[in-house]
Amino acid sequence: MSITSLDNTYVASTYGRFPLELSHGKGSLVYDTQGKEYIDLGTGIAVNTFGYADDEWNKAVQEQMNKLQHTSNLFYTEPCAKLAELLCSKTGMKKVFFSNSGAEANECAIKTARRYSFLKYGEGRSTIVTLKNSFHGRTVTTLAATGQDAFHTEFGPFTEGFVYAETNNIEEVIGLVKKHNCCAVMMEPVQGEGGVMKLDDDFVKAVFDYCSENDVLLIFDEVQTGNGRTGSLYAFQQFGIMPDIVSTAKGLGGGLPIGATMLGQKVENTLTPGSHGSTFGGNPIACAGAYSIISRIDEELLSGVKAKSDYIFKELSSADGIKSVSGMGLMIGLETEKDAKEIVAACREKGVLVLTAKTKIRLLPPLNIPDELLRKAVEIIKECAK
Ligand SMILES: *Cc1c(COP(=O)(O)O)cnc(C)c1O
Repeated sequence: MSITSLDNTYVASTYGRFPLELSHGKGSLVYDTQGKEYIDLGTGIAVNTFGYADDEWNKAVQEQMNKLQHTSNLFYTEPCAKLAELLCSKTGMKKVFFSNSGAEANECAIKTARRYSFLKYGEGRSTIVTLKNSFHGRTVTTLAATGQDAFHTEFGPFTEGFVYAETNNIEEVIGLVKKHNCCAVMMEPVQGEGGVMKLDDDFVKAVFDYCSENDVLLIFDEVQTGNGRTGSLYAFQQFGIMPDIVSTAKGLGGGLPIGATMLGQKVENTLTPGSHGSTFGGNPIACAGAYSIISRIDEELLSGVKAKSDYIFKELSSADGIKSVSGMGLMIGLETEKDAKEIVAACREKGVLVLTAKTKIRLLPPLNIPDELLRKAVEIIKECAK
């Protein structure tokens, strides 16, 4: 049986996969089982931060793999401790809880916000405001947090305690916080799955000001926007605000499953022994990979991200068949005249892998994609979009 038919027969049918069997890759290039080469502008949905089989990342992961692959959280290990320190020193956050995915990182953020409020104010202050068009994960609770009705059928009953505000509407956020006695506001700085929509700077600033004045926690879901993707290590750093909790995952491990929930000063001691945990969280190999990724996201790398982003915005904003370009850094959405799925397929034929988000094309290239490969890919996108 072919890989495709084995998968279709035995793997749960939760994904609409592209008709492509990938076999191996190097940097920004990936190859299918027929040997055809592709420039990858999807990075496994913003996960392969430095592309495939990156030498430095490989070395960090393999060295750790040969020492200690797992210990459980009953013991101290160096990669976990060092990664937490690195994240805190680069963000100003105080402590980190490690898990294995974005949804779990958000679960921890939600639990932390509720516990903070419970310990300080008692029961009845547990509701969280999220935004319409958001995406926060696939668990029963993070689906409830996701502000899209389409996600709120079939799997009920859902976790209670989420209310949804119109994106960029500060009056509605404040109104909901007051009406429901909320403990937190949770949002993605750029709504990824929702169509790569960057929040307005003024809105983010206003939410931050209101939250800090009213002891309402501000949670930033940086699962997709984090780890250099938007041109700063975390996107919040470009909005001139400081969230109380930042969750991240996707690009953090460079391809290994890891989630992190970063806790600011207010909530640094909210979680206590026994109040939360994870068997695999803080896994030494995943943390060694993440340490290697985060330590390489420096000013030089980030200015490269911005330059590549400017190039894409400039080239595609004026291209035939492209109605608008949205996003931040190397997280970019293209509104096209033709159907996005048609363009994705045409690009694939011509050797470029791109993704979709809602009705848009979504680009999430490796942060270090060589300029000549990016140029080649952008030309092919232009051809396919017109
Ligand atoms: C992908 C994503 C998640 C879910 O992450 P998983 O690792 O799939 O659980 C949550 N929030 C945002 C913003 C995401 O982009």
